[in-house]
Order: sequence, then structure tokens, then C-alpha cells
Amino acid sequence: MSLKQQAVFSGLDLSNGTWVKLICGASNEDLPSIADLCAVFAAAGVHCVDVAADIAVVNAARQGLEWVQSRFGVRPWLMVSISDGKDIHFRKAWFDPTLCPVNCPRPCQKICPVDAINSRAGINQSLCYGCGRCLPSCPLGLINEQEKHLKTNDLAHLISEIRPDAVEIHTAPGRREAFETTLESLLISQIPLKRIAVSCGTEGHGITTETLAKELWHRHACLRRHDQAPLWQLDGRPMSGDVGAGAAKIAVSLWEKIRPIAPPGPLQLAGGTNAHTINQLTPNSRPDGIAFGGIARQLLHPILLKAQERHCSLREWPEGWEFALTQAKQLINPWLSR
Ligand code: SF4
Ligand code: SF4
Repeated sequence: MSLKQQAVFSGLDLSNGTWVKLICGASNEDLPSIADLCAVFAAAGVHCVDVAADIAVVNAARQGLEWVQSRFGVRPWLMVSISDGKDIHFRKAWFDPTLCPVNCPRPCQKICPVDAINSRAGINQSLCYGCGRCLPSCPLGLINEQEKHLKTNDLAHLISEIRPDAVEIHTAPGRREAFETTLESLLISQIPLKRIAVSCGTEGHGITTETLAKELWHRHACLRRHDQAPLWQLDGRPMSGDVGAGAAKIAVSLWEKIRPIAPPGPLQLAGGTNAHTINQLTPNSRPDGIAFGGIARQLLHPILLKAQERHCSLREWPEGWEFALTQAKQLINPWLSR
């Protein structure tokens, strides 16, 4: 390990098992909600917020983070997510509403967790974060997914403009060259990054834990060549949005199986993580961190909607802010105080 990596590895919350990240969603562009989500979870104590690599999204996130910094003096890392290929985290759903029968009971609308589907207007692309729940819900098969992918040529310029603290690369088995190309492209920006997170799991790829470990070892070698410090994000059940104990168990089980064979660097749980996750761990078992995505957004969705109905942000509504902060703390405090 290089001196630079040793320095970066030491002295971080990542080393003591209390690291908590908020995932706002790699294709979530709901700017008012992103600003509030980042503010609430930053005030609650997360160490990092992870948002789409998009200027408008990053500006919204910064708005929330700066508001919190000016009041509470805390400032989590700002991480942006990119992908080295096709990935369900980087998609949106779409359909042509003019093709819908007028008497359709609209199962798509009922199933969307963020109310992105409007009865007559189709899917609000800013609100859709690509969870995929609506895709199989249409009896006429009208709903399609659309990839939302950044070209590697644009990466360096984008990262220079965004200047994030960290970047997450979503990868998949068999994409070794694509990962290296993506990494090299973003490093052209010469923005110093505290971590390069690598997100991958076994579900949806049809691979064993051993194969996943081999893929991560390759990413490790690649990061070392470029003198970058890793953070391994184990995507237990990607985009599940599941708040039950079953999904929580899958994320923990992946971590338990991979930790003896994983490359060096912090291992952080994600994908299916929720309030049950902590109960799946024994007192002596301790992943280096956790990321909450769907559950965090779902938890605050009703209060964010109420704020929108009042035509204000949560930051401008003291009662709403206090309620949201209490909810966020209930989710993350068991991790911060481990
Ligand atoms: S259900 Fe998911 S994929 Fe479909 S519109 Fe809503 S957020 Fe988008
Ligand atoms: S379920 Fe299909 S047909 Fe019905 S409103 Fe949704 S997209 Fe249209």
C-alpha cells in the first residue's frame, strides 16, 4: 500500500464500524427532495451522501449540506455515483400515456413509491429513480426502462466541475476493462478523491460470492495501480426498496460470506439495508459501514410531500424538520452508537 493510501485509510470513521451513508439514488433528480434529504440526514449524523453525478443534483445536495453546515457545523462527504456499464441503478421508466385505456385501474400509479406516475401525464422523469417496480405492473406492457448513462469522454469534465469528495463506480462481473477505462477517465480530472467506492453484488449477475471476490480483487489491483483508496459497497439486494427482515438478511449474509476472501479496504453494506439490518448482526460482527437508500427515502417521503403541499422545504418548516430529523435519527443512531 502506498503512503498516500495509508494516510487516506487511517483516522476515518470507516475504520470503526460506525460509517453511515445516505444514498439519494443514482438516477434520482427530484431536486427539492434531494436538498432536504441531504440536509436531514447530514444533521442526523451520516458521514457521506451519495447522489447522481449531475450538476443540478449536486447543487441541490450542496444546498442542503451547506444549510446544515452553517447551523450545526457538520459536513458529510459528497459522493457521486457513476457506472462502468449497464446498471439498474442508472435507469428511468417511461411510457406513452396516450396509449393507456381510459378505464385502466392504473396499477403502475399505485405501485410507485415516490408518486412519479401521474394519472394522465405519464412518468415524471425528475421523480423517477428507476426502482423498476412499475415495469411489470402494466397489463399491456407499455412501460419500458431507459438507460441513463454518462459517456466516459464526459467524465473528467463533469468531475472537475462537480468536485466531489468521493466517487462510487457501479461495476459488474466481466467489466474489468470497462472499470479501468472509467477510472482512468475520471482521474483525468485530477480532483483528489478521499475514496473510490466500488459497488457490486451477486444478485442479478448469477455469480457466487467467490466470483464476486475475484472481481473485487481485480478492482483492488486497478485502484492500487492508480494510487486510490477503495471502499467496497456490497449490494445485497439492489434496488429492492424492501423494508423487511428478509432483504436485510441478504445484505448481511453477503458480507459474512465475502469478508474472509475480500480484498483490503472497508466493507460497507447496501441494497436491502433497513431498520432490521442491525438485528441480523451479532454483537461481535461488525461491517465497516452501512448505506441506506430506499428505506431512507421511503421514511421521509410522506413528510416531504407535506412540505411540498405547504410550498416550502423542510428547512423552512420547523415542525416538519423536527419530525423528519427524529425519523432519520431512529434509522441511523443504532449504527452511529455501535
Ligand atoms: S415505480 Fe420506480 S421505476 Fe416506476 S416510475 Fe416509480 S420510481 Fe420510476
Ligand atoms: S398500467 Fe399500463 S395502461 Fe395502465 S395507466 Fe399504467 S402504463 Fe397505462
